[in-house]
Parts: sequence; structure tokens; C-alpha cells
Amino acid sequence: MQEQLPGTGEVLALDIGGTKIAGALVRRDGSLLARAQRTTPATEGSAAIIKAMLQVADELMASGSFTPQGLGLGAAGVIDPGTAKVLSATDTLTGWAGTDLAGELAAHTGLPVKAVNDVHAHGLGEARFGAGIGAADMLLVAVGTGIGGAYLHDGRLVTGRHHIAGHVGHIDSVFAAGLECSCGRASHVEAIGSGPAIYRHYQRLANNPEASSTRDVADLARSGDAHACTALETGGLAVGSALGSLANVLDPQKLVVAGGMAHAGDLWWDAVRTGFERSAIDALAQTRLLPAALGTDAALLGAASLFWNEDFEESLDVAHRS
Ligand SMILES: [Zn+2]
Repeated sequence: MQEQLPGTGEVLALDIGGTKIAGALVRRDGSLLARAQRTTPATEGSAAIIKAMLQVADELMASGSFTPQGLGLGAAGVIDPGTAKVLSATDTLTGWAGTDLAGELAAHTGLPVKAVNDVHAHGLGEARFGAGIGAADMLLVAVGTGIGGAYLHDGRLVTGRHHIAGHVGHIDSVFAAGLECSCGRASHVEAIGSGPAIYRHYQRLANNPEASSTRDVADLARSGDAHACTALETGGLAVGSALGSLANVLDPQKLVVAGGMAHAGDLWWDAVRTGFERSAIDALAQTRLLPAALGTDAALLGAASLFWNEDFEESLDVAHRS
């Protein structure tokens, strides 16, 4: 890895997901100077995905006269932040496992590269620029196509021995008893609480060919459809109950809820809070569930902030001393 350049504090950040590669030039104050985006060539193999990432990076570099200090990546899959390699990945991105995220990108851009998992980047972004500001210990849970999470302790991301930490979707839930999970196991909370799981639950109850998405189910629930309400509420209760259990273990200062389901409305949020209250022990009665503040920009901000770690850790040390 190259020596860090004394730059103006800007970082080129990319968020690599299953459907799109988003990029931005991010300033140290959390503002985004320029944006670019490409569709992820998800089925074309890792070389095609790296090529699309380079195109986004080039477009950003051409948008002004910048001297970024590095390239920060938040990427789908299990990422080793020490080597910037993809250790494993689902088949959402063909051939993604084993990809070296640093080599070609560093050679092409001339910038040092740092990488973390995209949900971990999301957590870093919310912790440092969004709903988690000021909290040394924060748990973020993203509920969307899957259920993922990121836990920060003393301002630092906890990735675990195998960089797996935060797989909140894959803990047991009584609400998911017997249901198959995306990981191949059974009875995990993702199998009842993710967006697609809520849709499948609704269809098991209603068998309604006119509803084609989780959004349709949320709309039906708002109009009072009993089966849609059941599917949405059960998903919310399951997620809330899992969050209560996690709070009992981690006792975070802030608990932030992100992802598509966080926009599903009051019915879902009420169920999440009810599930949390049932599961969290009395001493945690003051712990609040906060909606995420930054939307999808959180992952870009978090990926960029990989180059500013010392600054954030220092600011927390000061906060701890005062
Ligand atoms: Zn699972």
C-alpha cells in the first residue's frame, strides 16, 4: 500500500452493491462534492465489476481538480479490511469471492485503497455523520432485502475474527420457526423480518396475485388489509425482538435502524418498538430506537471515513475524558 499523500482531506468513495455502484468525492466535513453511478454488471464476473468501479472513479476524478488522499470502498460480501480482499460472497455477484479490491484499483488511480463490507461502511457513516453522532457505542441494523448490521465499540468498528460480525439476520427467532433462511439454515430472523420475507409471509396467508412486492404489502397494510397487517407486524415484532436481545448483550448507547423497511411506516415501527420492549430487560427501558439519518449516502461517508479513523478515535477520546 502506498504512503498516504498529504491532500486536502478528500476521499474517493465507492459503494458496490448488487444492483448499482455508487460513487462520490467526500470531504472530511461529510459533504459530497461530486457523484457518479453505474449499474453493477452483477452476472459478468469480478473483472467486469472492477472495470465498472474504475469507470465511476474516473468520472469522479474528471469532475474537478481534486487530489484525494485515498479510495475508500464499501462492498457487498465478507471483506477483510486488512487485505481489501473479498473473502466470500453470495451469488448475487458472480465470481465476487476471492476478488482483490486493492491491486488494480490502486494501480489505476494511484491512490491507496481501503475496504470494508457495505453494511459495515453504512454503520461507520451513520456513527460518524448521522444518527449515531456522539455515541461511542452504536449498533446499526439495516432491514431491507436482507438484515445486516454493524457494531461500533469505543468508536471502532467491530468486525470479529472472521470479519462476519454484524450478521444480525442470522440469529434465531421464534417468529421464524421452521422457515428457511437465505443462509441455508432455518428459523433465522431474516426468514420472517426481511422485505422479501414479509412479502412471502403475506402470500402464504393471502395468495394474492395482484400484490407483487413488499411495497404493495405495506400499501395494503395501510389500507387495513388484515393479512398484510399480520405479515408486516410479525416482521416488525421479529426484528424488534432481535434488537432487544442484542441490546441485552451489547448495551449500546444508540440503536439505529436503517434500510428499506425503515420507510415502511408506523405500523412496522410500532411493531419493532413493541418487540424491542418485550425482549429488552428493564435496565434498558431508556434505550431508544432511532431511524437512520443519511439514507444510502451513509455507506459512502463510512467508506471515506476509513481514511480518517484516527481523527474520529481522537475526538471520542476527548469526549471520554471530558
Ligand atoms: Zn440465516
